[in-house]
Amino acid sequence: MPRLRIEVQGVVQGVGFRPTVYRLALAQGLTGSVWNHARGVTIEAQGEAANLESFVHALREEIPPPARVAKLASAEIPEQTGAPAFQILPSHEGGDIRPVVPPDLAICAACAEEMDTPGERRYRYPFTNCTYCGPRYSIIARLPYDRPHTAMKSFPLCPACAREYGDPLDRRFHAQPIACPVCGPRLSLRRPDGSGPAEGEEALRDAVEVLKQGQVLALKGLGGYQLLVDATSDAALRCLRERKQREEKPFAVMFPDMASLDAACEVSEVERALLVSPEAPILLLRRRPGTQVAAAVAPGNPRLGAFLPCTPLHRLLLGVVDRPLVCTSGNLSDEPMAFEDGEAFHRLGALADAFLTHDRPILRPVDDSVLRVDGDGPTLLRRARGFAPLAVPLASAEDGPSILAFGAHQKATVSMLHRGQLIMSQHLGDLTSLEGTDLLARTVTDLLDFFQVRPERLACDLHPDYASTRLAERLSGEWNLPLIRVQHHHAHGAACAAEHGLERSVTALVWDGTGLGNDGTLWGGEALVIKGASFQRLGHLRPFPLPGGEAAVREPRRSACGLLWSLRGKGEPPSSLAPAFEGPDWSLLQTMLTKELHSPMTSSIGRLFDAVAALSGLQARRGFEGQAAMALEFAAGDRVEPPYAWAVDEGVADPSSLLEGVLADLDTGKDATCIAARFHASLAELALSWAKLSGLPDVVLSGGCFQNARLTALVQARLGEAGFQVHRHRKFPPNDGSISLGQAVVAAQ
Ligand code: ZN
Ligand code: ZN
Ligand code: FE
Repeated sequence: MPRLRIEVQGVVQGVGFRPTVYRLALAQGLTGSVWNHARGVTIEAQGEAANLESFVHALREEIPPPARVAKLASAEIPEQTGAPAFQILPSHEGGDIRPVVPPDLAICAACAEEMDTPGERRYRYPFTNCTYCGPRYSIIARLPYDRPHTAMKSFPLCPACAREYGDPLDRRFHAQPIACPVCGPRLSLRRPDGSGPAEGEEALRDAVEVLKQGQVLALKGLGGYQLLVDATSDAALRCLRERKQREEKPFAVMFPDMASLDAACEVSEVERALLVSPEAPILLLRRRPGTQVAAAVAPGNPRLGAFLPCTPLHRLLLGVVDRPLVCTSGNLSDEPMAFEDGEAFHRLGALADAFLTHDRPILRPVDDSVLRVDGDGPTLLRRARGFAPLAVPLASAEDGPSILAFGAHQKATVSMLHRGQLIMSQHLGDLTSLEGTDLLARTVTDLLDFFQVRPERLACDLHPDYASTRLAERLSGEWNLPLIRVQHHHAHGAACAAEHGLERSVTALVWDGTGLGNDGTLWGGEALVIKGASFQRLGHLRPFPLPGGEAAVREPRRSACGLLWSLRGKGEPPSSLAPAFEGPDWSLLQTMLTKELHSPMTSSIGRLFDAVAALSGLQARRGFEGQAAMALEFAAGDRVEPPYAWAVDEGVADPSSLLEGVLADLDTGKDATCIAARFHASLAELALSWAKLSGLPDVVLSGGCFQNARLTALVQARLGEAGFQVHRHRKFPPNDGSISLGQAVVAAQ
């Protein structure tokens, strides 16, 4: 009988792949074995030719949804006689094993059906899971991934669960978080003052009441505490925004089912598949007009962050409350999400009216991931649940040293580059709070412990005041390791190039808020030529002063004031800007600029967006970071208008004529939509003139500005027409979430 050796690569470890192989082999009456190793999974299978053929076919077609087969190669090898029944071999027999920490996965269809079926052992059980779904990364204390090393260690298996756990033909074979109503975690509802504890179905009913009364419910989710309110109630939203100190930043909404989600948003086939995938991310979908979702969920935003229940607990709750719920991370603005019970009760006590919680500990916070699908495919905007900490192969780094990279200051992530694999932590949020800095340090320890890597070099940003830089400096001293400081925009561009496996020189258009440049000014509107560990600044926006420095991030009018000052010197505000300045504000800023007080120079395109948004009356005063840029993007819509003129001299782009154009349009009564459309078109022209300067065929786009779908599409189209190959982020975010990746890649060379 023929015997095949089959090599499988892809996402095939920690996702129930080997038990599936076992079942498929038994179904075809094959003998042989399957084992894990550093590069994936190897199978040896022996049987009748027709059975072998069906088996190989099934390996591609019938594997569980979290597993992804990227490569499958089979070759005939000599037959073995007297072979025992098909078996799963322990990993170590396969030799050099690269550890895999599986991500947390949304409830699978089989588990969902079980919990909906009266009479099933797990009917309405909120902690149902199996080999293909449920908590992983958020409950693993250490490797190897076995139950005693997880948050489930204090739940001894009942006989029924033990039987399922030990049966290779059962869906729960070696499912480490396996649980049932007899032996598993239990649900409870608590009030912030400790009163009224309720358990099980009663806790669920009470939680539903809390939501129906328009109150705030803190829910212990998969990777941390979340705050939930009725998304159809304006009053409930006002209450949540007030308590969370979050004025206008959009909230994500969880819908009970696809039908209710469909009623509120337009959903394409690609988007539909993503919504029900094991990663079950939040998707930024186009909102339908006049739906039951309150406008205050995402004011002025044509998109809505929408997702489906990802755990059995969310499913139960949404099923009973039967309306969309705002579902946001449990924190005060800028702090990381609370995930430990004591800490959550303490930090969220004043924010929530009740806590729906349980006794399965969460060992590390994992936020919901966020994705947007544009004309040419998905862009990951926040990489967390479902994705982290899956390794991504980077061919260029196969033989390089092991690197630990500490990332930026906002949208922080930590990355480890080791033997050609990049392991990026989950999105950790901003490092502006003490809690944020602690989380960064814990995550570094976590990654090193899990993957048993001793880094040979550390990498961080040039900025000396980032909490990530300070941690990197401290550890580089303690561990006596070299620390490589990578310029922020170099890291951005290198990240995008690495994601696309580009090893030759590329033009990198890196447009974002601000990052520290090599010359001590704040960069952010850069055209770089990147070749490995080095880069050249090919072009940039002519710098203008930013009165108040970082304060300008939340006050677009400051960018407008600085830009006008650099163009015209001291003067009066144009009439469109006057209402944004009360009393002495304007003259105070003008004095700061004239005396060069606390007014750093910047070439940031993010700040140019702010200035134009303020001038066109869209967003001048306080707001969340990026709000002004979003307002311009939404105002532009799909409108096509001619660009403003640019003067680009030896790579330096002077925004003067653009600004004069905006002011002239304002004078002749053009509306914000027209100005926004012209502004976006101008940036596409700028991209083209910079790309032409280097003439290199590949252009990578990175930086927070490329979260703007309109800008990205225009730049891609303009460069594409001119024959350039344009690459943008796909698997990693265009924002500072990718900085640790870029740092790692640069430091490795
Ligand atoms: Zn399942
Ligand atoms: Zn049990
Ligand atoms: Fe950045």
